[in-house]
Amino acid sequence: MTTLVAKPWILDIAPYVPGRSTTDDGRKVAKLSSNENPFGTPDVARAAYVESAMMLERYPDASAADLRDALSAHYGVEADRIIYGTGSDEVLHLAAGAFAGQGDEIIYVRYGFAVYDIAARRVGATPVVAPDRDYATDVDAILARVTDRTRVVFVANPNNPTGTHTARSEIARLHAGLPRDVLLVLDQAYTEYLNPEDDDGGLELARTQPNVLVTRTFSKIFGLASARVGWGYAAPEVIDAMHRIRAPFSFPIGSQKAAIAALGAADFVEHSRAHNAEWRGWFAEQVNAMGNKGLRAVPSKANFVLVLFEGDVSAETAYKGLMAAGYIVRWLPGQGLPHGLRITIGTEEEITGLAAALRAIVGA
Ligand SMILES: *Cc1c(COP(=O)(O)O)cnc(C)c1O
Repeated sequence: MTTLVAKPWILDIAPYVPGRSTTDDGRKVAKLSSNENPFGTPDVARAAYVESAMMLERYPDASAADLRDALSAHYGVEADRIIYGTGSDEVLHLAAGAFAGQGDEIIYVRYGFAVYDIAARRVGATPVVAPDRDYATDVDAILARVTDRTRVVFVANPNNPTGTHTARSEIARLHAGLPRDVLLVLDQAYTEYLNPEDDDGGLELARTQPNVLVTRTFSKIFGLASARVGWGYAAPEVIDAMHRIRAPFSFPIGSQKAAIAALGAADFVEHSRAHNAEWRGWFAEQVNAMGNKGLRAVPSKANFVLVLFEGDVSAETAYKGLMAAGYIVRWLPGQGLPHGLRITIGTEEEITGLAAALRAIVGA
């Protein structure tokens, strides 16, 4: 008897574990486990999404022409160099699928975004993991792992789950050290939380270099995680290859319209950014004040903080204690971080309440 068996490299994939939304006992509590915007969705984006319900019988515009035009006007990127997908997750998968396969290698950092591992294995490529430097991306460690089989390098900046930021000059150095036949994917899901003067989110590199893809999302600051809108910007040849393997109608009309509307919600975005900067700084201080209990905050430029537990109270204990107190955060033993909790910066009430609960748990 023969049986149906999936490809071995598919069975090697450890399934993605999403952030939880309910506690063990099913209570509805503060969800600070998925880096969503605590202020919800811009009203204009919600209205555009609702309005699209009048067009459900039609296939969506497979070329996403209106969204590409809106992105072009907003970010100064050429509309014909834009790829889009159901979340930037899809764009990351398209990058791996278009440029790597069996026998090829895909590099990313040890505490990197969980989707890179899945994207690499899914196409049969070999994941190559570069060690970090105190949780931050180490450009030299990545460059040291490049071989003639390397096809793609994934770098999230800021990185998830560490929140660390790699300076623009370091990203340029990484690019300069890579062979021209390696695609550098700069995953900029948290770019909007950066100070624009510090970092252009990789757009200049993607504009001028043939082997750089920048990916962006509407899931984080724009408050549209459920609409699944991601996009990428790269040289026309890179975009063309990715389009060939894209599912043509993977990008619903309501999501396209909501994203276009969200681009106009400048006040919402600015408020979200300023709130995050203020309370992320405050929260990191609170954590570091518990240093005598072995806690420390990894320096973050994103909308979350990775808290390390290096003393008597374990991250697991704190995770369970916070859940009992009504806060769901992300404990990441599956990503090599059994000693870390990734905590999204919520509303003022949420993050101050969480800090108080954490103090009580560790006895600070
Ligand atoms: C959240 C996140 C994404 C975005 O995923 P979507 O599919 O666009 O929702 C991409 N990369 C990183 C590093 C993330 O944290």
